[in-house]
Amino acid sequence: MKPRPVVAGNWKMNMDPRETREFFRDFHSDLLPARRPDLLVFPPFVSLAAALEARPEDPQVDIGVQNIFWEESGAFTGEVSAPLARAAGASHALIGHSERRHVFGERNEEVARKVEAALRAGLVPVVCVGETLDERRAGRLEEVILEQLDAILPQVSPDPDVAFLLAYEPVWAIGTGETATPEDASQAHGVLRTRLRKVLGDSRAVATPILYGGSVKPENAAELMRAPGVDGVLVGGASLDPVSFLAIARAGVPLT
Ligand code: PEP
Repeated sequence: MKPRPVVAGNWKMNMDPRETREFFRDFHSDLLPARRPDLLVFPPFVSLAAALEARPEDPQVDIGVQNIFWEESGAFTGEVSAPLARAAGASHALIGHSERRHVFGERNEEVARKVEAALRAGLVPVVCVGETLDERRAGRLEEVILEQLDAILPQVSPDPDVAFLLAYEPVWAIGTGETATPEDASQAHGVLRTRLRKVLGDSRAVATPILYGGSVKPENAAELMRAPGVDGVLVGGASLDPVSFLAIARAGVPLT
């Protein structure tokens, strides 16, 4: 069965606890119809508790963390493990975001260790893949995103009941105002889903939501979410404003 659409917000290094409470005060998810997308927000660690306290319960907004470390505990100053994030109330973990890969030098092997750690702790991984502009121009899109996907597949269960999400986020579209066309997104999502099917089987491929991310806004969200193979969106900048995030969620309401 096709997964429910997902609208996720990555707040990056923004939104302190007070701003987080204000966001949810102004985020009226009760205005969405019953056939709404699943909603998910990734606040910074320091605002996790405020988000869990202030989020609407019905319909529920899931709360995740933007990163985890793969060890469970110990002398890793400044890091947060998957069990710590889970115990603090997070349900999801964003892993391998392009800023982690390109600003902090995270490699595919590290991304894979984090996926394994998340699943072990009962966090749902939302794993980001995407090519840079140079890689795209050099005709290496498929090679790059498949290499990123292949690195984590040994950690992923073929069982469709084990929740796991992918996000295709072309690096050149993140925070730039440049958006992939719906056709570009469909093509990349098709490449990823075909690989999931080949390695882990049809049920896993069908049950895995693949989100598009990269300068999604209220104006382009509906068109992107209607593109074949696109199961939702991961939104950065436009998720910081409750009104625009709600408009994007509304764009994810299935037409039929
Ligand atoms: C992101 O941070 O994952 C993202 C897609 O950012 P933006 O929507 O701002 O491009």
